[in-house]
Amino acid sequence: MAVSEKDCLFCKIVRKEIKADIVKEGNSFIAIKDINPVEPGHVLVIPKQHYTTLLDIPDRLGEEMLKFAKQIASELLEKKLGDGFNIIMNNLEPAGQLVMHAHIHIIPRKEKDGIRFFVKVLGKK
Ligand code: AMP
Ligand code: ZN
Repeated sequence: MAVSEKDCLFCKIVRKEIKADIVKEGNSFIAIKDINPVEPGHVLVIPKQHYTTLLDIPDRLGEEMLKFAKQIASELLEKKLGDGFNIIMNNLEPAGQLVMHAHIHIIPRKEKDGIRFFVKVLGKK
């Protein structure tokens, strides 16, 4: 369901109406620590303008967003928060999107960290 900019959680974080642990801030994006991290160092890259999903983000901004995400990911490796990383984006509710303001998850990974994504539960529809 679409959410107005006024009521949107991530817009409120961008406007600094709600506190967040900001990792990096640029002209068009903000990176914050996820409040419920899969692993320490789990970061969300959020466009400052409100877009619901990846498909709503203009191509040019999408390229910039990936560039911004790459910076965060390389810093994560430099800081040894992980030896690898996943970049994940949930788009719309069936894909697990809970906050309807487009964002990219960057999740640090280590060998045998026990994290598994995209496990299909057999028999579950
Ligand atoms: P998604 O399922 O892709 O929409 O993920 C939303 C993410 O936002 C989840 O990983 C939440 O833990 C995270 N989240 C929710 N509220 C906050 C908040 N106030 N500050 C930081 N991260 C949040
Ligand atoms: Zn928003």
